[in-house]
Amino acid sequence: MTTDTHTQPIARPIAADTAASPGSAPKVSFVSLGCPKALVDSERIITRLRAEGYELARGHAGADLVIVNTCGFLDSAKAESLGAIGTALAENGKVIVTGCMGAEPENITAQYPGVLAITGPQQYESVLDAVHRAVPPRHDPFLDLVPPEGIKLTPRHYAYLKISEGCNNRCTFCIIPKLRGDLVSRPAGDVLREAEKLVKAGVKELLVISQDTSAYGIDIKYATSLFQDREVRAKFLDLSRELGTLGAWVRLHYVYPYPHVDDVIHLMADGTVLPYLDIPFQHAAPNVLKRMKRPASQEKQLERIQRWREICPDITLRSTFIVGFPGETDEDFEFLLNWLDEAQLDRVGCFKYEPVRGAPANDLGDAVPEEVKEQRWHRFMKHQQAISARRLKRKVGTRQQVIIDEVGPTVAKGRTKGDAPQIDGAVYVSSRRPMRVGEIATVKIERADAYDLHGSAVGF
Ligand code: SF4
Repeated sequence: MTTDTHTQPIARPIAADTAASPGSAPKVSFVSLGCPKALVDSERIITRLRAEGYELARGHAGADLVIVNTCGFLDSAKAESLGAIGTALAENGKVIVTGCMGAEPENITAQYPGVLAITGPQQYESVLDAVHRAVPPRHDPFLDLVPPEGIKLTPRHYAYLKISEGCNNRCTFCIIPKLRGDLVSRPAGDVLREAEKLVKAGVKELLVISQDTSAYGIDIKYATSLFQDREVRAKFLDLSRELGTLGAWVRLHYVYPYPHVDDVIHLMADGTVLPYLDIPFQHAAPNVLKRMKRPASQEKQLERIQRWREICPDITLRSTFIVGFPGETDEDFEFLLNWLDEAQLDRVGCFKYEPVRGAPANDLGDAVPEEVKEQRWHRFMKHQQAISARRLKRKVGTRQQVIIDEVGPTVAKGRTKGDAPQIDGAVYVSSRRPMRVGEIATVKIERADAYDLHGSAVGF
C-alpha cells in the first residue's frame, strides 16, 4: 500500500468510540479502507446509521452486520479490500460492501458470492437500504414520527422524484453545472424504493425530475441495482418501465429529444407512463441553438415530434423557450415562430433572456435590447396561445381521467394526464357527489377556454 498521490489509500478499521448501550440497538462493525474521500463516505454512512439508532460494534464477532468500505485504487489496495471482506465473512457472516471496488461488483462476487449487497462509492442511500433490509433499525418513538416516505412539501397525492443531481451539458446560458457539478445518477433500486414508499403512503402521481432526465445513468454506465429481487438498469427506459408498474401516474420532466427517447414514447402509448413529455427546447433557430450549446440540438426535432405523435397520438408536449438570447436576430425569431406553427406544442412557457452572472452566453453576441426582448416575448406568447387554445379545444367532447387537486363547494379543480401540477392548465369539474383530493375521476369535457377545461364527472 504505497503511493504518493493525494488518493493515497489508508486503512482505517473504525473502532467503536461510541459505547454500545445495553438494550436491543442493532450493532454495525465498520471497516473503512482507502483515501480521505472514502473516509468521508464512511463518516457519512456512519453518521446516518447513528442517527437511525444503530451502534458501532467493537469487533465483527459482536456485531449484527459488517460494512466494508473498499478501496480499488491499486492492486495491493484491492487485495487488502478482498482480505477485509473475507475476514468479515468468516467472523460475522453478514457483510455489505461499498466503495470503489463496488463499481466492479463481479470482482467481489467471484470470490465471495455470499456478501449481502454491493454498492459503489458515494451510494449512501443504497448502503442504508441494504442495512435496513439485513438488520432493520429498532423502533424509535422520536424518529418514527417521520413517515417512511419522509417529509413532503407537496400535497399528499403527488410527489417529485429526483433521479439524479448535476448535469454533464454546458448550455451557455446556465450555471447549474458550475453550482451542482456533473451528473450524478441515483441507483435505480434507490429511486424505485423511494417511489414505492411514496405510493404506499398514498401518492397517486410521481413527477420524475432531474436536470436532464434522458441522460439518466450515463455517469454510472447504466449500472444495475436490485429492486424487488430483480436487477434494474439505471437507464431512462428501464427506470420508466419499472416506475410504471407501481400503480401511480408517472410524469416525465426535463427530457431532451435524443433518439433513445422514442422507446419511452412506446411506454406512453401502452399506458405504462403518462403520455406527457416536458422537453425544454429553448429555441429552434439552428445558430441560436448552437450558441446555446443545447443537448440534442442536432437532432431533427420536428421529425422527432411527428414520430412521437405517430407512436402516441394522445401525447401532450410541453416546452420552454428563451427569447432575446444574445445575438438573436429578427430572422432567428421569425424562424422560431414558424417552427412553433409546425411543432404544434400543447403547452409552452417563455422567458426573456437574463444575463445570469457567470454564464458564458453573456459574451456570445450583442445583447438584445430590453424593449426588443419584451416585444418578442409578447409576440411569442400571442402566437403560441392560439396554438395551445386550438389543441386544448380538441379535448372538448372527450372523456378524460382527471386527478383532483382541490375541492370547492360546487366545483373541484383537477388535471388531466396532459397537465402537470403548478405549470399547466386545470380542469374545473362539477360533480353530483362531493369529490376527494387525490381521487381520479372520469370527466366529460364540455368546454375549453385559453388555458383550462371545464366538465362534469361521469365516473369515479
Ligand atoms: S441541460 Fe443545460 S440548462 Fe439544463 S441544467 Fe444542464 S446545462 Fe443547465
